Amino acid sequence: MSRAAAEAGRRRTKSRAAKAALYLGFLVVIFCTVHVARWGRPVPLAWQAAGANRWVNTAGERLEALDLDGDGSWDRFNLNDSFFLRPQPATPVARRLAICLDGVPYSIIRALWNQGRFREFFPPVEVVSTFPSESEVAMTALLHAAPAPGYENRHFDWKQGKVAGGVAVTLAQSAPYLKKLDYDEPGLFKGLHFIMPAKSFRADLGRLRKRFLASSVPAFIAHISSTDALCHVMRAEQLGPLLIEVDEALRDLYFSERGRLRLLLFSDHGNNLAPSRPAPLRASLERAGFRVRDRLDEPRAVALPEFGLVSFAALYCRPELVRELAGVLAATEGVELAVYRDGERVAVRSSGGEALIEANTDGTRFLYRPLKGDPLLLLPVWEQLRAAGKLDAQGSAAEADLFAATLSARYPDALFRLWEWGRSPYVENAASVMVSLADGYYSGSGIFQRMVTLQSTHGSLARRCTLGFAMTTDAQLRHAVRVSELLE
Ligand SMILES: [Zn+2]
Repeated sequence: MSRAAAEAGRRRTKSRAAKAALYLGFLVVIFCTVHVARWGRPVPLAWQAAGANRWVNTAGERLEALDLDGDGSWDRFNLNDSFFLRPQPATPVARRLAICLDGVPYSIIRALWNQGRFREFFPPVEVVSTFPSESEVAMTALLHAAPAPGYENRHFDWKQGKVAGGVAVTLAQSAPYLKKLDYDEPGLFKGLHFIMPAKSFRADLGRLRKRFLASSVPAFIAHISSTDALCHVMRAEQLGPLLIEVDEALRDLYFSERGRLRLLLFSDHGNNLAPSRPAPLRASLERAGFRVRDRLDEPRAVALPEFGLVSFAALYCRPELVRELAGVLAATEGVELAVYRDGERVAVRSSGGEALIEANTDGTRFLYRPLKGDPLLLLPVWEQLRAAGKLDAQGSAAEADLFAATLSARYPDALFRLWEWGRSPYVENAASVMVSLADGYYSGSGIFQRMVTLQSTHGSLARRCTLGFAMTTDAQLRHAVRVSELLE
């Protein structure tokens, strides 16, 4: 063979290899595009609606849901020429499925139920979150898990004496409460919540469904974390249609199991559905001569670990600075309350008020001692309880009476929640001072601030941030509950 012929042969082989590589690359691009486009589509349903309370499935079966006793919840399901009934609380059923829709407020679910949605369920009741009204703490309380390192994934570590954690903690999924869940979204996907909220939510819901169907765990507990991101970045009117997809996906499971499934749907905290801006905490602290640092290595150093965009802030300082720090924070724009431990008591400061919370050792009776003004707006409640003969000789009130009397108040269950915050059963690294921000303000990391336009947040002691929901297909929940009492 001549040298020219060999050269031409080599060139042909080279161009054939280049073509193959190009073709392969083309296939990879097509594969990825199809995958990304398919990812996060609505969960496929076996049953399609054929009227307000009628459905047909892919096998041509017909189903009709009826409310025979007129309580608003479906109790009989006609299936072709047969029927099944909703199992009574005592009836043994195949499986239980409890799902936490992170951050979904009571008001939104109640409105959807009133519109005729979620009618396999009895009407929802309020779930009172922890303080702060935030998942790391509320989920720890809910699942009776070992304490989380901090109120958020980025926190102050007293042992190391510095701010620790961050996004790596989210990715590692190391919080103790996560071990108690049968389903939680992998940490890597949580990063996409704020970039593709609706797609992330649908993928989360679809993944939960797959895991539940593939598992044989009799009482399955799942956490849909993507709903909180929907609340943070979407307008209130955009949330309903997405939550209806949860209704449809659960109904599909319920029908497929012929009702042999007990469902509990709930959330761990609410959302204030109010667009908000940053509270000028750092500027205010610097003006007052504090030094905002990651370590408490100088006398006036204060640590302020920031992470999510939330309506609370946890601050850490040397013990001798606590009272002064609380005073400066209480007078800062956007701050409604600053709280700190005062021996066995919890002290509360607002811009014009100051009060002390006292409790007996097991937290069943409380005293509210306003020193100036009425920062927790509890004086009318105390008068009401006094008139009803519900105060004892010392003027203290029972926690159950306070819970009922403040459920619709500005700060639901405030005394119990602040007293519990003081004891810190859910968090290892308790803050020196906690701040509850007014609706319309948040505290959080600069990276997240640049990523999203915040339509709503939570974390504060106030009602809209506090009230989640719970409803079951078992029986009407009798009354509102604390988040720690829901899965007892
Ligand atoms: Zn959130």
